[in-house]
Amino acid sequence: MVATKIQCSKCGGQMDTGFVVDHSLSSSLIGDHFPRWVEGEPERGTSGGWKTLGKKTNEINRADRCGSCGYLEFYTSKEVQYV
Ligand SMILES: [Zn+2]
Repeated sequence: MVATKIQCSKCGGQMDTGFVVDHSLSSSLIGDHFPRWVEGEPERGTSGGWKTLGKKTNEINRADRCGSCGYLEFYTSKEVQYV
């Protein structure tokens, strides 16, 4: 079976499937090490971090990268909630 490569929508090159990780301290406290997509404009919270409470968020669980131009395409999982 030959693996079918996804074609880059920008340059037509071959996309490699991968994922992204966030090694920052705050994400290690949350525990899953996955960066998230957050709906709306970025706002600073009272603790200095980004305000994410009450916003619609998704875990980014797949990131395809083009080997030719470097274009990244992100895919998210189902909606997750910050606590
Ligand atoms: Zn490309």
